[in-house]
Amino acid sequence: EPRLETERLGRNYHFHTSLPSSNITAKELARQGAPEGTVVLTEEQTAGRGRLGRGWYSPPGLGIYMSLILRPRIPLGQTPQVTLLASVALCKALEAVTPVRPQIKWPNDILVNGKKLCGILTELNAEMEAVNYLVVGIGINLNQQPADFPGDVANVATSAAIAGGEPVDRIRFLTTLLSFFEADYDHWLQKGFSQLREEWLARAAGIGTTVRIISGKQEWLGQAEGIDTDGALLVRNEDGELQRLISGEVSLRPE
Ligand code: ATP
Repeated sequence: EPRLETERLGRNYHFHTSLPSSNITAKELARQGAPEGTVVLTEEQTAGRGRLGRGWYSPPGLGIYMSLILRPRIPLGQTPQVTLLASVALCKALEAVTPVRPQIKWPNDILVNGKKLCGILTELNAEMEAVNYLVVGIGINLNQQPADFPGDVANVATSAAIAGGEPVDRIRFLTTLLSFFEADYDHWLQKGFSQLREEWLARAAGIGTTVRIISGKQEWLGQAEGIDTDGALLVRNEDGELQRLISGEVSLRPE
C-alpha cells in the first residue's frame, strides 16, 4: 500500500463516496475553519464543475476528484500562481507514476496529445485584500477508457490509461501528487515563483504558436510568448503589442 508522505497536505482528510462537487464541500469546510492542507476526496461528482460554469464529468471509481484547502499569506495578485503550481505538481506526479508525458495549457488544463487529461479549478476567498483561503479543485482522468466518456466529452478528453496504455494505481497517484504539491508549495512560499515558472515553461503547450483568445464577448488572435514573473500569459496581438492576460475569464484555443 502506498503511504502518505506529506507533513501537512492530506493529513486532514475527508472522504466521500459521492458529492455534487468537491469544491463546494471544501469551501464549506474552509468557512468552518478547516486547516491548511485539508483534502476533500470523492469517488464521484454528480455536479462537477470546470471554469466559467462548465461541467466536469466525474464518473465513479475511475478518476481522482479532490479539493485542497490552502491558506497562503500572499497578496491577492499572486493567487493565479497557485493554479500554475497545481499544474506543475500534476505533471510531475504523472511523469513519476505513468508513462504519460503531459503538457500544460494555460491557465488550468493538463493535456496529452492535445486532449484534456486533467482540469484545475481554483477558487478564492479574500477579506480586506488578504487571502482567507483558496480551494484548489483537481479532476483527473486516470482509468477511463474511451467508452467511459459521454459523446461531447469523448472528443476532448483522454485518460492516463488511454494515453499511457496501462491502468494507474489511484492511491499511488494521489500520494505522489500530494508529495510533489507540498514540496512545490513550500518552495513557492519560501522562495517565490521563479523556479516554478521555469518548470511550468518546460511543460507548456502552445507557447510560440498562434492562439485565439476568448474573453467574454471579445475574441482576438495573438502569438503566445510565455508567462511573466507573476504567471500572467504574454500574448502579442496583431498590432505587435504585448498583452498580459490574467487567468480569470480568459480561454485559449489553438488556431
Ligand atoms: P477550455 O479548456 O475550453 O479553455 P476551460 O479550461 O475553461 O475551457 P474547464 O473548465 O477546464 O474548461 O473544463 C470544462 C470542459 O472540459 C467542459 O466544457 C468539457 O468540454 C470538458 N470536460 C468535461 N469533463 C471532462 C473530463 N472528465 N475530462 C476531460 N474534459 C472534460
